[in-house]
Amino acid sequence: MIKISVLLFLFTILLQSEKQSERNAMINNQIIARGISHKATIEALRKVERHKLVPDNQKQMAYRDSPLPIGYGQTISQPYIVAFMTESIQPEKGQKILEIGTGSGYQAAVLAEIVDDVYTIEIVEELGKRAKRDLKKIGYNNIHIKIGDGYNGWEEHAPFDAIVVTAAAEYIPPPLIKQLKDGGKMIIPVGTQFMTQQLVLVEKTDGKVRSRNVMPVRFVPFTRTD
Ligand code: SAH
Repeated sequence: MIKISVLLFLFTILLQSEKQSERNAMINNQIIARGISHKATIEALRKVERHKLVPDNQKQMAYRDSPLPIGYGQTISQPYIVAFMTESIQPEKGQKILEIGTGSGYQAAVLAEIVDDVYTIEIVEELGKRAKRDLKKIGYNNIHIKIGDGYNGWEEHAPFDAIVVTAAAEYIPPPLIKQLKDGGKMIIPVGTQFMTQQLVLVEKTDGKVRSRNVMPVRFVPFTRTD
């Protein structure tokens, strides 16, 4: 007689391969088809189990071509936007990255597949705690989460090779520019909730800061505690 545990094991394997084929379809139809070509970014998105980072009632929709609600009025970005932002900072092994707006932890996990360490700050305590629990369960030990206002960055671990901000700010917080390494890149949505926002790519070279708009977007607002 086949034991229940064996059946459960087989079921888990089946479910995993189903989710992997959903991810492969997502990569082909949403990511590569739209021009993302950075290899490490593509492989990271192929690997990260997005369905394990969304609330239970969203699991079936995890690989859809859209943002999803994660509770507390916040959203996890559409996979393409995560890929676009990741590619735009050209992450590499050996780097240290700061993210503002942990949310579900998905963007942090994508970065953690590529670089050595990801420092991420979330202002909504419940979301920060949930992401910490979910990321630990999946097995990430190079993601460091802090609960608080990300406006001032994370001084103790600065400077960073790159910074990814996933909430729309009215202007680029000066402490974040300061904590960016020379030669580093930052990607940040800028604008208000009711106006068109732009993803801005900031590059620091020889102490000079240049920024350019790279894509119109819609993000939840960057909030402040004070
Ligand atoms: N990167 C996330 C996207 C989450 S949406 C993901 O992959 O799921 C943006 C997040 O930014 C929200 O969770 C919101 O609570 C958070 N946020 C907004 N303002 C913030 C601030 N000042 N500091 C830290 N987090 C902030």
